[in-house]
Amino acid sequence: MVRVLGDRDESERIVSYFRDSALSWDILLEALPDGTAVLDEHGTMRYVNGVLAELTGYSREDLVGRNVQMLVPARHRDTEHVARREHAQDPNTRLIWSDMDLSVLCRDGSELSVDFALSPLAIEGRAWVVAAIRDNRAQRDAETAQAEVELRFRVAFEDNMAPMMFTDLDDRTIAVNDAFCQMVGYARDELMGKDSKIFTYPEDVGITEETLRRVNSGEADQVRYVKRYLHKDGRVLVVEVLRSPARDASGKNLYFVFSERDITEERALSAQLSHQALHDSLTGLANRALFEDRLAQAHAAVVRHGGLAAVLMLDLDDFKGVNDSYGHIVGDQLLVGIARRFEQVTRSTDSLCRFGGDEFLYLAQGLTSPEDAILVASRLLGALAEPFFIAGASIEQRASVGVMVWDASSTETSQLIQDADVALYEAKRRGKGHHAVFTSSMRAKEENRFATIQELRHSFQSGDLEMHYQPIVELSTSDVVGFEALMRWHHPKHGLVPPDIFIELAEQSDLILELGAFAMHESVTAASSWEPQGPRAISPYVTVNVSAHQFHDPNLVAMIEREIDQAGLAPDRLILEVTETVALQDIAETLVVMEQLNRLGIGVALDDFGTGYSSLSYLAALNPRIIKVDQSFVRPQHDLARSNTLLEAIVTLGNKLDMVVLAEGIETAAQLKRLNNLHCDLGQGFLWSPAVPNVEALTMLEEASDT
Ligand code: C2E
Ligand code: CA
Ligand code: CA
Repeated sequence: MVRVLGDRDESERIVSYFRDSALSWDILLEALPDGTAVLDEHGTMRYVNGVLAELTGYSREDLVGRNVQMLVPARHRDTEHVARREHAQDPNTRLIWSDMDLSVLCRDGSELSVDFALSPLAIEGRAWVVAAIRDNRAQRDAETAQAEVELRFRVAFEDNMAPMMFTDLDDRTIAVNDAFCQMVGYARDELMGKDSKIFTYPEDVGITEETLRRVNSGEADQVRYVKRYLHKDGRVLVVEVLRSPARDASGKNLYFVFSERDITEERALSAQLSHQALHDSLTGLANRALFEDRLAQAHAAVVRHGGLAAVLMLDLDDFKGVNDSYGHIVGDQLLVGIARRFEQVTRSTDSLCRFGGDEFLYLAQGLTSPEDAILVASRLLGALAEPFFIAGASIEQRASVGVMVWDASSTETSQLIQDADVALYEAKRRGKGHHAVFTSSMRAKEENRFATIQELRHSFQSGDLEMHYQPIVELSTSDVVGFEALMRWHHPKHGLVPPDIFIELAEQSDLILELGAFAMHESVTAASSWEPQGPRAISPYVTVNVSAHQFHDPNLVAMIEREIDQAGLAPDRLILEVTETVALQDIAETLVVMEQLNRLGIGVALDDFGTGYSSLSYLAALNPRIIKVDQSFVRPQHDLARSNTLLEAIVTLGNKLDMVVLAEGIETAAQLKRLNNLHCDLGQGFLWSPAVPNVEALTMLEEASDT
């Protein structure tokens, strides 16, 4: 059905005009790629082409004679109407709407996004129009895709936290992101079109030029390099740069993409860390790691070119005393002062390091003879000759030096330090302020010593150490009044090892503290098992030997107090045996410890009396409860008369000072008689019994109370 609005006859006439003319509508409009309709002044579609029918899903018959509004979505109908009417009033213009959200309503109710054009068709004074639509979906899709690409680019470039820059093939900036502007301190405008020289550290301009040459010549694909920038405020930045060329399909460079990283702080931090990792924080000297590195280099040089070198290990003598008497702050200052003095005598080819604590290492190179190494040792020791003035105190500090001289034949560098350490041990043994040069016999001795300490440690852990007790007898009554606790090591292979040997070894390590604590615990526990005995109901005391190291241990008194508390032993039943030598090492400290012991009610016996300093004035000051006269007076090897006189003097002195005198090592009745005549109070020796296990000590006590 054909519906015609308006002057039907007139319209028919126009249509037939065209039909009859040489230019047929059909031919013209069917040739167009766009959907096209001829509309009369009322909007009635007078003609539609096949493309329009196809696009909208209608047949031509469905459309011809119907108003075009049927193809306009409801929301656009008013607009369409107005637009067509306005167009009709100025029929000479051609209107094209593209890029707008215009659509036609298809037969199935879907909408088709289109560009839209109206062209006037003035025929015999009537304002008809040709309306054409073009499906723009493909273009729209392409635009959306393009927008997405742009969005992605913005996120990847503009919003990237890494500074990024694009440059043309002459390295002039074509784009920079915010992070880049921030890094160099320039605004975007200041950078566009310029090359990187404006923010490159002058000396590093060549780096950029070189990388440009390499990528442009095809020598490199991507270049990663580090260069310095100059921030607008003058700061120097260290920047890591990755330059990648963007290429077209044929591989031709189009432009460059720079992705960068400011590594200024990272670099500074790592420099600081590597300094810290290689230097001692207190003295600023090289540390062990750096020293070992230099030693390895020196070793390689000696292996290659021959020659002689030496490692010297220095250890400060009794440095602990400085810390103890002046405090750690002064101790630290002294270490710094010593480091400076050593530095002053360090030759430029040599190296000095703080090895830890109060130990220093010195590497001497280019020596012509072993004597040169001894000269170096003397020079280092000489640097300490003058006292140090710290915090108002004048402090004298000496050191001992172990010297290891080596040449290309010495294999391992780690062994060199160990050998210097062995020599140092020997130097210490010779006395303070000395040096010793390493010899291979020292190493054998050292290895033996080391092996024995290991065995001792192992035996201690597996319970092969035991305390034995030797009775102490009152000479006038023959009553047992106490026992001396003596340590026994049952070596799995060598049998009983004498304590003189292993105690001295343990003294050189912290093991002595563990052994001492063990001895204390065992002895105090044993003593608490000794019941009062005899008519006088004597509760025997125990005397426990305390080593030098242990005596200087600040935890000693606390440890003892804990032990007697736990065992429930009356404090006056414990006596510490301290040798004269140990007690007189540091009188001030000894007096402090003795005062603490005194307050707890624990007594002290001065052991091996007569073999050390035997200073009478100190004896009075120390005021020990017991003086143990050394065995050498009781069993003299020669000059019996003289030793008798000395023994008499000691006993008299002790009695006068109100101290108990005990004679050690009494083996014969004759020796006992002599001591009785001198009115010596107590005795100890094989005449009565050697040291025995506690079970035997208990039997001994029972038998004594039975008689
Ligand atoms: P010391 O403190 O002078 O111990 C006395 C030594 O003389 C002991 O040797 C003892 O067995 C021995 N002795 C006792 N009576 C006689 C005798 O009539 N004739 C002879 N010839 N010797 C006698 P021991 O047990 O071999 O101890 C040697 C040293 O080892 C001790 O000398 C002491 O300095 C040290 N020592 C032993 N046990 C310990 C301990 O638990 N701690 C510490 N720090 N040192 C210990
Ligand atoms: Ca003793
Ligand atoms: Ca002794």
